[in-house]
Amino acid sequence: MDALVSPEHIETHLPLMEHYYTIQGEGHFQGHAAYFIRLAGCDVHCFWCDVKESWDAHQYTKIPITQIIHHVAKSSAKRVVITGGEPLLYDLTTLTTLLKKYKYRTHLETSGAHRLSGCFDWICVSPKKFLKPEPTVVQAAHELKIIIHNKSDFEWAMEWARQVSPECLLFLQPEWSKAAQITPMIIQFIKENTQWVLSLQMHKYIDIP
Ligand code: SF4
Repeated sequence: MDALVSPEHIETHLPLMEHYYTIQGEGHFQGHAAYFIRLAGCDVHCFWCDVKESWDAHQYTKIPITQIIHHVAKSSAKRVVITGGEPLLYDLTTLTTLLKKYKYRTHLETSGAHRLSGCFDWICVSPKKFLKPEPTVVQAAHELKIIIHNKSDFEWAMEWARQVSPECLLFLQPEWSKAAQITPMIIQFIKENTQWVLSLQMHKYIDIP
């Protein structure tokens, strides 16, 4: 799904907030090794966001994409997760094209609030009420991950599940600050709606990035 972009819109530099090689903590690839590239900037502004320091992209220097690739290449990673912030604020064509050139599996974690760009092997979309996703991004999702903060979010989850492709995997994940209270409700919901799978933020329980 390479995006067609005019040369003047191709990003050569991106605001890198942090990057690290770790274990994917949530969703379908939980437990798999992955290199995380966290881009700065987010206009979704979820009130419960656990990376609010990512919101203001101006706090971070834009660095050459080749330098980002160089960081990844120093690890033994095979899979690269591009996350944020909201990574689709940027055109990801150059970054993902280069990653694919070097044979990395490319994964995207997005709220879906902006136009899809780049070449991805796996797209995880986590729609947010604060800035709804673009339908085209939702339809491209391999994985739908709904964060459950309160009871009304279950209906929200079902609404988005009706809009993804039939192959898309469905995950419910408790919002971290309310996990103790919400997780039992999610378990009960999944027992009654078996197309859904529980996603826990394993990395937070074992205290890794
Ligand atoms: Fe935070 Fe993600 Fe929501 Fe942006 S979309 S505010 S990074 S949780």
